[in-house]
This record gives sequence, structure tokens and C-alpha cells, in this order.
Amino acid sequence: MKTRIIISHCIQDLNMPITKMLILTYFAIVFNSCASFLVTDHCDGNEFYNPAIDSTEHSFSMTIKWMWKMKTVEWPKWVNDPPQPAPPRYVKKGELKVTYINHATILIQVDSVNILTDPIFSDYAGPISFMGVKRVRKPGIPIDSLPKIDIILISHNHYDHLDLPSLEILAKRDKPILITGLGVKKQLDDIPFDKVQEMDWWNKFTLTPDSIDVTFVPALHKSGRGLFDGNESLWGGFVISNAVGNIYFAGDTGYGSFLEKLSHRFSSFRLTIFPIGSYEKRWFMKKQHMNPDDAVKAHILLQSKQSIGMHYATFAEHPEQTIDQHEKDLDTAMNYYQLPKDRFLVLKFGEGIYIP
Ligand SMILES: [Zn+2]
Repeated sequence: MKTRIIISHCIQDLNMPITKMLILTYFAIVFNSCASFLVTDHCDGNEFYNPAIDSTEHSFSMTIKWMWKMKTVEWPKWVNDPPQPAPPRYVKKGELKVTYINHATILIQVDSVNILTDPIFSDYAGPISFMGVKRVRKPGIPIDSLPKIDIILISHNHYDHLDLPSLEILAKRDKPILITGLGVKKQLDDIPFDKVQEMDWWNKFTLTPDSIDVTFVPALHKSGRGLFDGNESLWGGFVISNAVGNIYFAGDTGYGSFLEKLSHRFSSFRLTIFPIGSYEKRWFMKKQHMNPDDAVKAHILLQSKQSIGMHYATFAEHPEQTIDQHEKDLDTAMNYYQLPKDRFLVLKFGEGIYIP
């Protein structure tokens, strides 16, 4: 298992800094490449980065140390979940329903709009099966049982969040709008979306006539699908706003300074969705993935009325915690911060709840 995980991360996540630097230098000299994006406080024109205060850079030696010391624990090969009822076609005006499908795939139904985040229904996350990380359970709702999807939100291009086979099925069936960060569109091949909207942090897209605003917001993470495309596309989360209130989907993220900004821009949240899995070892992972304690702190900071967790117990990405450790750690954090248990839920796979 450890070998598969290391190969997968070398390809997708780590981007092997020294090799990458040499190859990029070569291509820069040969092709005299020019900037692709506006230079901002999180982009140098070609690559994106996190603010210095939250710097996520791992040195090559840190990466090797992380791999060398990785002590994975066994996960079950397969888990069967009880089937859940299919979601409604739409919810009524003013209603908000959230259904946890698996990993970061969440169905958010608000007014007469169905929104799906980071859809992955494939059997593995990765470029090809033997390099990918296999799923240990079926999606909680089969893709064929989903209602018509109007909007797909893609937080970033890592394989467990940008799954091309799933996107192809949904695009052909429902012709949704896809909203994502800068630089992701070119990786969608020729998948026939009705519209693809790339956004920089804090850009807003308004869906008419439903009057739903979707704001792409910062996250503490990185991007890349191969050895040589590290941080060439932007990562982030989303705030969905309309008359029913604000909904925050955090994407893949650590606990960063951006959360403070988020709390100032949006007064409160009716629903927040935080990642609470794949968080060990903290000295390496804390700038990329929240742990349950971080997620509860963020829930409190954002004055959220209701949170749910995501990004757990679906793919054994780098399992240095058992498959259910996130639930125990969330319980500990809830007790520590004296938060009522029903304010931050771990839903069953496929379970849907109405948010008051
Ligand atoms: Zn990621």
C-alpha cells in the first residue's frame, strides 16, 4: 500500500522540486514562455502560491522525511453501506438540502438549483488504475440516481477532486455550468459543458434568473496532476449565496489566514462543509488538510449554524489514521470547544438532510 501511495503522490502532489526546476528551466529557455495569468499576491504570472504567512512549501528533504517515516495503518479492503433514498428532483423555494455522496462530492440543493461539488464516482483516484488510490466503498448515491445537475463546482485539479470520467457523464447528461479556478479549463479536454467559468480568488459568478451568487474563495492547498504542472492552476473553495443565506464549501484546505477574511466578508453561514480526513502527520499535512480540531475552530470563527464533514473514509490516500479516526477526533474537538453535537455532523454515505 505504501508504495502505491508514494507513487501516487510523486505524480500528483509532490511535483519533485529539483527535477521539476531543471525541466522547467529547459522549457523556459527553449520556448521563451510568457506569463499566462495576471500577476497578483498569489500568482507570479505562471504559477500560483499561498500567501507567505501560510507558506506551504515543503523542502525536498521534508518530503523525503514524510515518505520515509510514513506509517500507514490497514484500512478495510471494502465497506458496504446501507442504501439511501435518492435525492428529490429539486427542493422548494427557500429550502436547503445537503446530501453527502462520498469524499468531497456533495449535492447541495437550494431553491430550484442543484449544485454538485468535486464529483468523483470512479473506482480509483489517479491517472491510471495501478497508480491511483482505490475507493473502499461505493458512492453513497449512484451517479444515475442524481437529479439533474445545474452547476458543478471544482475546487482544484487533484485527481480525487477533478475526475474526468465522472464529469464527462454529467456534462453529456445534464449540460451543467462548471465553475472552477484559473487554469483548470484546459484540463477538461473536450468535455461538452454548457459553460466553463474560471475564477480568481474573490471573483463572483451570478446565476440568473435564480439570483444565486457563487464566489471562489482562497484555500490553503496546492495543485497539479503530473510531475511538471505543480501549481499551474488555482485551488480554492466556494461560497454560494442567495436569499436563503450563505453556504461554504471549503474544498481541500488547511486552516489558513484566509478564514479570518472570509469571516469579515460574509456575516454568517447557514451551512459550512469542511474537510476532516487525511490529516496525519500534522507537521507535514497541516498546511494542506484541516484536521477535525481545525474544522471546529473554523466553524466557530465563521459563525456557522450547521457544519458537515467531508473528505474521509472513501480513498486510502495516505492512511496514517484509521478509517474512523476522524469521527473520534471530531468528538474530542466538539467536547473541547463545548459545541453541541448536532452542530457539526458526520453524515452517512448517501445521507441527505434539510438544513433549517
Ligand atoms: Zn488536493
